Amino acid sequence: MNYFWLDKHLNQWDTAIKLDHKPQAVMLSGMKGAGKAELLRQVIADLICRQTSSGHCGTCQNCVLNKQGHHPDVHLVAPEKNIVKVKMIRELTDFFTSTPHCSDYKIAVINEADQMNVAAANALLKILEEPPSRGILFLVTDSKHQLMPTIKSRCISLDLVITSNEKKQLKQWIKAELNSLYIEVNQVDDRLIEEALTLSDYAPKITLNILQENRLDELKFWLDGLYDVFCQDVSVSEVAKKILEGGDVNNWHLLQRYCLQLLKANFNPNQYEIYASHPLNQLIKKAPKVVHIIIKMTELIQQLMLNFNTQIKDQLLLESMLVEIKSELNPRS
Ligand SMILES: [Zn+2]
Repeated sequence: MNYFWLDKHLNQWDTAIKLDHKPQAVMLSGMKGAGKAELLRQVIADLICRQTSSGHCGTCQNCVLNKQGHHPDVHLVAPEKNIVKVKMIRELTDFFTSTPHCSDYKIAVINEADQMNVAAANALLKILEEPPSRGILFLVTDSKHQLMPTIKSRCISLDLVITSNEKKQLKQWIKAELNSLYIEVNQVDDRLIEEALTLSDYAPKITLNILQENRLDELKFWLDGLYDVFCQDVSVSEVAKKILEGGDVNNWHLLQRYCLQLLKANFNPNQYEIYASHPLNQLIKKAPKVVHIIIKMTELIQQLMLNFNTQIKDQLLLESMLVEIKSELNPRS
């Protein structure tokens, strides 16, 4: 895949490296699905190769080991059960104490760095206070605001952004990608692409996933279901049961995104709104406290996700949340 919107960041990085402005700690941030992993893969491949001063050769021992994920000078940290633990950061300290084996740098990556617990964050601060001379640490996050200011201030920021010009090119890019995946583009018309882009907030990889897996149909199914509870004589407990049995974490993510775009459309009438004519959209928009209702819906989805992760199927809680939203949507009934 050619992630064209990464080029500007790669050029910026290349220039800094050529000027020998090699940072010791970099915070790579940007929204989910924007291509942070791809950007980092490219940056590390270029750093680790000794054969060429720009880019990487792809064939030397450094390149091959790195591609296989076995390079001794590259260390990856990822959260376990949503926590980056202190022992992982201590391993990182050990990793940085030795000199590079076969490349010029020791490179470490902390994925989902915002998931560090307090002990881990404090251990990391110690590394950042005395960074190893030939080490480069990358902190990757899509929730930069959740990291401690003392950590952020010790890192160079690399914020992955997709400019408004690049957003305009995304529709074409999506079509080309779908084509290369042998998906009949004619069946995915412009409107669908527009809806998927809005729903994903222009995150290219999420947009592709929505279209590839026909997730817009699934979303409509869930919106229909919610509308039935709120407005028709469908029993709340029946629907709650169906939701708990049939839902999965992808559905909840999609519903969460739907609420977010609804909220944005509420504040900005010029914003493209998906399912604008769906009765649920109409119902919510007519409600006396629109924002309040949308937040309630978001809380409900949050609860569903929590349930999903812990396998606790709390039907009564879900029912009471549905009833509460229903009464606020239909205050006079
Ligand atoms: Zn190489």
